[in-house]
Amino acid sequence: MNIDPGTMNPIQHGEVYVTDDGAETDLDLGHYERFIDEDLNKYSNLTSGKVFFKVLEKERKGEYLGETVQIIPHVTNETKAFIRKSAEVTGADVLITEIGGTIGDIESQHFLEAIRQFSYEVGRKNCLFIHVCLVPYISGSDEYKSKPTQHSVKELQSIGINPDVIVARSDGDVGEDIRRKIALFCNVKEDCVISDVTLPCLYESPIMLHKNGLDKVVVRELGLKGKLDLKPWKTLVAKINSRKGEVKVALVGKYVKLHDSYLSVVEALNAAGYENGVFVNIKWVDSDELTEDNLSETFDGVDGIIVPGGFGNRGIEGMILSCKWARENGIPYFGICLGMQIMVIEFARDVCGLKNATSGEFDAKSEHKVIDIMPDQKGVVKKGGTMRLGAYPCKIKAGTIMERAYKKAEISERHRHRYEFNNYFRELLIEKGLVVSGTSPDENIVETVELKRDKFFLGAQFHPEFKSRPNAAHPLFIEFIRSCKDK
Ligand code: GLN
Repeated sequence: MNIDPGTMNPIQHGEVYVTDDGAETDLDLGHYERFIDEDLNKYSNLTSGKVFFKVLEKERKGEYLGETVQIIPHVTNETKAFIRKSAEVTGADVLITEIGGTIGDIESQHFLEAIRQFSYEVGRKNCLFIHVCLVPYISGSDEYKSKPTQHSVKELQSIGINPDVIVARSDGDVGEDIRRKIALFCNVKEDCVISDVTLPCLYESPIMLHKNGLDKVVVRELGLKGKLDLKPWKTLVAKINSRKGEVKVALVGKYVKLHDSYLSVVEALNAAGYENGVFVNIKWVDSDELTEDNLSETFDGVDGIIVPGGFGNRGIEGMILSCKWARENGIPYFGICLGMQIMVIEFARDVCGLKNATSGEFDAKSEHKVIDIMPDQKGVVKKGGTMRLGAYPCKIKAGTIMERAYKKAEISERHRHRYEFNNYFRELLIEKGLVVSGTSPDENIVETVELKRDKFFLGAQFHPEFKSRPNAAHPLFIEFIRSCKDK
């Protein structure tokens, strides 16, 4: 029911993924971008809460002219309009819409009704229903069971949807007999039952699905023409499988109990590992549990430290200790968003002597708020506690790690934060050796900071992880892992 996932606790639902146009979305969208290699937008994610909110708002404005407002047609119409809008703004040839959850969930009933109507409106030739179902394996009798599939398809049919393709999700190949049985009982063509098996690496799945015939039947059923080019995927998989050696990266955060809270960071680290030919072994470090006494034990054998984004006071001191450890022990450090702010605070405290330096987020009364909400940055930090969201340009200073990584003078990256580097302390910090290597084009907002040293030591106010793709690792992550590898 959440109107958008922006306010959800990452421990419950994983990371909040941010698109270029500033939408705060479910982490699934990150996977979609990584797989289809296209930028998504605010029309790419719809929740029940969002549709209901819109419908009720319209009712309040009198747009329904006194009609009785109902799930059908008002909620379903709004849902269909959203799908059409997504196609319109992207100009896509094919729009893929995932209805999350499980068939039979109360939560998804109105979505299913909406897509049933949608296929009726666009014509069955212009719409293809792919049903993904679980085919469990019973080890006791050494067999796969098609029963759950038969039941979920029956359920779908009762609401007027006939799947055209069934993707049978299972740990191993379910075999010809089960596929034939599913086809017969579920009323789909035999070659439209596709095995989707568990693989050691997720990025091998497009090749596996191709081998099992998914693209062939989808293109045929939709009457599309085109040539498939799997070369980039094959190159990627070859790269993944030819990695040698490993680097150990400590990921220090307070949401480490649920690894999905940092999903895009993990994927970006892995992609940079593919690019550098090494495995990236992540050591999960709960910043809440770090003390001066367990630092050396925690970071023993670690090649690099990364502090990703986060909100609120808890666990902050542990992150600052980690950054200090990296700086004093010549370990590569990568701070993302909150991690950048931590780097600035640590530098201010230990190098500039501002003993109680902090962020306005942690102590609004401190006199050394090196990170704060900047009132002079109007138009950037919006009023009402909202955040700076989505893509903003960043100008790169020559001769820095930033320039070495991007090899460009200006870039664009995605943001999601409320606080900024406080320009009041800018001169002092620069004087003491902090390098401001990326700024807004007018140089007012500090986007990245670095330390002048051989090892990668950089903090970015933006979230580079959202733009990393498996086949196009992010320049900053590539540089970071390269530096860890050199160590
Ligand atoms: N809490 C910090 C801020 O709001 C950092 C946000 C983040 O890491 N995404 O500025």
